[in-house]
Amino acid sequence: EAKNTGRSQYCFYKASMQERVLARVQLESDLRHALEHDELQLFVQPQWNGMREMVGAEALLRWHHPERGMVSPGVFIPVAEESRLILPIGEWVLRVACAWIAQWQKQEMTAFILSVNVSAVQFSQDDFVDQVQRILKEYNVPANSLQLELTESMLAHDEQDIIAKMEALKAIGVLISLDDFGTGYSSLSYLHRLPIDQLKIDQSFVANIEQGAKNASLAESIISLGHSLGMEVIAEGVETDPQFKWLNDKGCDLFQGFGLARPMPVEDMLSLYRNTVDVE
Ligand code: C2E
Ligand code: MG
Ligand code: MG
Ligand code: MG
Repeated sequence: EAKNTGRSQYCFYKASMQERVLARVQLESDLRHALEHDELQLFVQPQWNGMREMVGAEALLRWHHPERGMVSPGVFIPVAEESRLILPIGEWVLRVACAWIAQWQKQEMTAFILSVNVSAVQFSQDDFVDQVQRILKEYNVPANSLQLELTESMLAHDEQDIIAKMEALKAIGVLISLDDFGTGYSSLSYLHRLPIDQLKIDQSFVANIEQGAKNASLAESIISLGHSLGMEVIAEGVETDPQFKWLNDKGCDLFQGFGLARPMPVEDMLSLYRNTVDVE
């Protein structure tokens, strides 16, 4: 009997492996279809200053799958990266972002900054900087309205290449934010040599911050570190008013999170923006 159990477990294991591989292949082919048939959507989550004025937003991908429903970017971005579909997807994101910025420039939202996430696979392409420059020109968009979010983990790769690309982006005028800051391993000596405009405190440091949790002292250190390097500091994952107040008291410059506004379609953000501005 023991042998049978072992055997059936083995069979079960094999089947589930196969299922997982199939699901992965299916997901990849669905994703390719989604890109070609405009099933991907770009949401935006507002970013606020300490006076609760909306000063920018982060673009976040959404995929409404016809059968699976909403597929989270946490699931499909890794698949897109492995299959290199992230290259056309990432280009599409940059184009949509720049088309919006071009519109906003005509609508008195000239100081509004849109942040776009960039995958390590995209950033490592030789023509990445050229691509950004080409798209900015094509949509006639001021470079300093676009911010690129790179992650701290990307810094672990080819140091010379990363510095050269960041400096080329800076020369164009594009802003650079370091996403999920505090979760990676960037050394401080390296950090101060990079032309980074903004540090984005990872949301894991924001949770329970107002209760004096251990991450509170980490968040506070990141704020000081950013400011001492002349960088702006933004907190992500701000879910409650006490969290906002705590971070604001510590000098955090910008705030983003469900407690202020969830990611939403761009039209919704524009009405929210107009309402906020009208109230003044
Ligand atoms: P991220 O860049 O760190 O984005 C922040 C994530 O936190 C988003 O998840 C956002 O919806 C979520 N979030 C915002 N406020 C709160 C909050 O108050 N509480 C909690 N619990 N979560 C909050 P989302 O949209 O699921 O995106 C997940 C990740 O997928 C992003 O993390 C980013 O790494 C990646 N991603 C999303 N869009 C793109 C894209 O266009 N290109 C690339 N390369 N990656 C993207
Ligand atoms: Mg981000
Ligand atoms: Mg982040
Ligand atoms: Mg994050």
